[in-house]
Amino acid sequence: MARIVMKFGGTSVADLDRIKNVARHVKREVDAGHEVAVVVSAMSGKTNELVGWVQNMPKVAGADHSIYDAREYDAIVASGEQVTSGLLAIALQAMGINARSWQGWQIPIRTDNAHGAARILEIEGTEIIRRMGEGQVAVVAGFQGLGPDNRLSTLGRGGSDTSAVAIAAAVKADRCDIYTDVDGVYTTDPRIEPKARRLKKIAFEEMLEMASLGAKVLQVRSVELAMVFKVRTFVRSSFEDPDAPGMGDLLNPPGTLICDEEEIVEQEVVTGIAYAKDEAQISLRRLADRPGVSAAIFGPLAESHINVDMIVQNISEDGSKTDMTFTVPSGDVEKALRVLGDNKDKIGYDVVQNESGLVKVSVIGIGMRSHAGVAATAFQALAEKGINIKAITTSEIKISILIDGPYAELAVRTLHSCYGLDKS
Ligand code: ADP
Ligand code: ASP
Ligand code: MG
Repeated sequence: MARIVMKFGGTSVADLDRIKNVARHVKREVDAGHEVAVVVSAMSGKTNELVGWVQNMPKVAGADHSIYDAREYDAIVASGEQVTSGLLAIALQAMGINARSWQGWQIPIRTDNAHGAARILEIEGTEIIRRMGEGQVAVVAGFQGLGPDNRLSTLGRGGSDTSAVAIAAAVKADRCDIYTDVDGVYTTDPRIEPKARRLKKIAFEEMLEMASLGAKVLQVRSVELAMVFKVRTFVRSSFEDPDAPGMGDLLNPPGTLICDEEEIVEQEVVTGIAYAKDEAQISLRRLADRPGVSAAIFGPLAESHINVDMIVQNISEDGSKTDMTFTVPSGDVEKALRVLGDNKDKIGYDVVQNESGLVKVSVIGIGMRSHAGVAATAFQALAEKGINIKAITTSEIKISILIDGPYAELAVRTLHSCYGLDKS
């Protein structure tokens, strides 16, 4: 007997038939004698709809145009998961399984106060464990928790993955299965490159990079938790026949295992390609080249909660003036320009330019640590397709390249094939 946490994403619970199908996956594990807790997302599209409703409500007069009451935002957007948790509990009961829904506050899943992007601080797992021991399946609403202000909180988009891994850690589960609409983690988004291959295993560090550089198959925080708490996490499909051979395999279920790099026998140099759309570039021209100028730019941007990503500073030609270019999410450009305008005298620049609709493509692989020439291969391949590079950043296990938006898919496919990822 094992203890298993099963998480089902939005497309897996998109309608009543799909929820009944999810119940069959759960039944398979219960019938095998395992203790099971389930985490569900809202029906696909539901959270977007709820977010849209919030955004279309009138704003408080004079408030920053992007600000609405984050506590009420959470109260509204958390509702999608409440519905699916109840529906799945009913579907399971109809199959003769003892099941009960749980909202974040009932467990409770305690979070910090960062409404809209809260972090889980603590999960009280005892009651769930006790009930699992009695043969009851807990169906937990993902994405939500209880803030220190005693109000509903949500974990940021894609947060049900994090709910699932955190619950798996709290109840000391043997396995956490993330069921989605693809049958594992691929070498790149299979919707962009049909030749992408499913990975049998991927190292935590690589999955962290893939997720934070745009592969939305797992929320970044869920990978961090899986790595820290050593949760054995699989990504697998809810769209396969729940009773097909091998689906109930305890040690090697079909899908991709996220694991320590030591567990990966044949490590390739490059493991995957990720991309992030909607990046924007801001350039400050003819800046004073003196100590403190970066602090004068990025300090106020950070205080305004603007997430700056790539930063490129030119070498000054004459020792007195230079240019600085950096990227922010497209949605933050206006706010960033306002902050830079307000601080123009302190920073001391001549003009500010900006360009939106850019894309960051990234090459990821632990094998890069010990191989030279990985970046040069990417640059050559992109050049052959006439794709211009606007900025580059690198770390030990990744190379990120900023390009014009319309080239995104071509760049992903080009990088995918230049490292031979399309060949098995
Ligand atoms: P869910 O609703 O189940 O949480 P998501 O839409 O959040 O599902 O994540 C699954 C999607 O992630 C897939 O449909 C796929 O298009 C996308 N994706 C992006 N990169 C990858 C990748 N490297 N491997 C697998 N899926 C990926
Ligand atoms: N329903 C939430 C979202 O769409 C959380 C999730 O699905 O993981 O972001
Ligand atoms: Mg998701």
